[in-house]
Amino acid sequence: MSSGRPDERSAAVAKRTFRLYDLRVEIVSVKPGLESVCNHHVGDYFEVSGENLSIPAGKTFSMYALAAVLPLLPAKQRFSDEHDWINVEEHVLCPDPHCEAMMRITRTRVREFALEDVSAAPKARREEGPG
Ligand SMILES: [Zn+2]
Repeated sequence: MSSGRPDERSAAVAKRTFRLYDLRVEIVSVKPGLESVCNHHVGDYFEVSGENLSIPAGKTFSMYALAAVLPLLPAKQRFSDEHDWINVEEHVLCPDPHCEAMMRITRTRVREFALEDVSAAPKARREEGPG
């Protein structure tokens, strides 16, 4: 049982972790003949880990397609209720109405993060926790 001394409390706070899914966003279909419109190619992808996006060296990814998928990524990274739609929906279309390229968001692994490593919020506020 903790005595609640500051040094013990600090140690407990240092262990505050949370888990997020890593994601992979991949072009899975492109309308034949339109590959050059948005420069989509089946198999093009980027990965998401925490707040970071990674695109393979020498590859590109349309910023318009990225803009379409970006709002979903933080939700897809997080754990949710079993029947939440975010757990079953995985496809997003390029926003160009004539392009019809399709992206698929895949959860690739679970990664653990420490709150202290990813938050610049004042320490006292972090120790309070939510609400
Ligand atoms: Zn497109």
